Amino acid sequence: MAALRAHGLLWDGQVIYQSQSADAFERALAQLWQSGTLFRCRCTRADLKKTGTCGQACVSKQHPDDAAHSVRVSVDRSLLPDFEDTFLGPQVVTVEALPEDFIVKRRDGLFAYQLAAAIDDALPHFNHIVRGEDLLDSTHRQRWLQAALGLSSPHYAHVTLLYGADGHKLSKQNGASEVNLDQAANNLRQCLEQLHQAPPPASARNVQEILEHAIAQWSPPVPPAQCS
Ligand SMILES: [Zn+2]
Repeated sequence: MAALRAHGLLWDGQVIYQSQSADAFERALAQLWQSGTLFRCRCTRADLKKTGTCGQACVSKQHPDDAAHSVRVSVDRSLLPDFEDTFLGPQVVTVEALPEDFIVKRRDGLFAYQLAAAIDDALPHFNHIVRGEDLLDSTHRQRWLQAALGLSSPHYAHVTLLYGADGHKLSKQNGASEVNLDQAANNLRQCLEQLHQAPPPASARNVQEILEHAIAQWSPPVPPAQCS
């Protein structure tokens, strides 16, 4: 939040913390249980198929609630159409992106990222979700969950990632150094260049002036060329 503020990127309304949404996640799970979409999976890591899906046909076994298990959705692929990504163009649902099942509640009792993100991002005041393209497969799963729950999906826009010289994406997970908040204006200039946007004039010195220019000149990033 401090980094966003330093770059003049502010938000509407209150910040919503995922830890406050447990009731909404439980209600969603109850709805999915009721519609016959969920099953308890007792597979260990070694039991899973290569795709990470259930490897022991748990869907037909009706495992009891009292032994360790994760909760998975059994995916009805007919429920989900392809979608148009605002930046990347048409996105086709693939088996890798949307496997036959995936986890919505983990064995340790935590709600899975896919469920939490699907519900939070479908809140009515969110209209666009902008994030890195490494989450594209997750988007298919989250859109599927939104459809299964009768929620409208927001628009999605995935941006290409930045990679270090070692070929790994720049992220805290890979030990990338953090954004220097003391040079926010310069950071914005570099981001705009990466996004192939018109460079702000040299007269735009501070964050506010650069953002004003960027908004006025904004053109959507061009989707990568399609292979024929
Ligand atoms: Zn299983």
